[in-house]
Amino acid sequence: MKVKFSASQLKAWQGCALRASFIYVDKMDRYSVGSSAHFGTCVHLALENFHNGVDLDSCIQIFRDAYDEIEPDYYNQRTSRSRFLDMGPKMISDYADSVSWEDHITLGSEFRFMVPFGSHTISGIVDHLHVSSNGKTVYVDDLKTGKRPNMDSLHLDLQMTSYDWAIRQREFWVGVESDDPDWPDKYCGLSNGDELFEKYKDAEIVVRWVDLKKPEFVNVGKRDEFDYARLYRMMEMIDRAVETKTFVPCISADTCKFCEFKDICPVWVDPPVRVSDFEESTGKEEW
Ligand code: SF4
Repeated sequence: MKVKFSASQLKAWQGCALRASFIYVDKMDRYSVGSSAHFGTCVHLALENFHNGVDLDSCIQIFRDAYDEIEPDYYNQRTSRSRFLDMGPKMISDYADSVSWEDHITLGSEFRFMVPFGSHTISGIVDHLHVSSNGKTVYVDDLKTGKRPNMDSLHLDLQMTSYDWAIRQREFWVGVESDDPDWPDKYCGLSNGDELFEKYKDAEIVVRWVDLKKPEFVNVGKRDEFDYARLYRMMEMIDRAVETKTFVPCISADTCKFCEFKDICPVWVDPPVRVSDFEESTGKEEW
């Protein structure tokens, strides 16, 4: 079966196969936006504008306007509106400072792609695609507002492997037909994609995890046939799980905490109310 995988889908399947099956197989729409995800979207929007030549002050305003446009469905632990409204402008300014020395040419920002991968396809969004001015190195930067890179396993990160594969494919540059009738130019490629593909096909590819909290630019390392095979096997196993309807729940505290499907998950059990929670909700003393 030919299946299209995006980086976020792979992440969902890795997190909990049962939850992923509710979303991608049963197509249950229970989409909710947490405060951290909303914050990330707003920073990305500001930096997309920055990469496209908008001045820093206007980018910060874009961030503020976008943040106040919607109210998140819930606030993640240790987050608040005021904290994010302080953090956002600082993150954007620090990033702008840190890239000011980089001698590069931006090719794309928030650039959507879809490329073949054996009998499957991979889609995704590159936050910042740029090339050194001597044309020898093409960078794929993934901008992260929250999660810090785990240096011990970064060389195995499947999202980064999918970028590394994608950028080496002609379809990445020239685009492919959209699979969305309401969005015909979804994967339109770059305007001179053929020429750019030829020009950069022998360039060094560097995929970087950009930790915006510092900011720090971490090269995720080279990928080879082993990494592509690993990614492909993961897709084949997901494919098989869908065919056989075998979805093992993860039962992990981290993933379950914000899961939208707790009410229909057969392994979820509400945790007992702790004494401190009881006191908070009732105002009563311990008994
Ligand atoms: S509650 Fe946990 S185990 Fe159940 S579907 Fe959600 S993430 Fe998976």
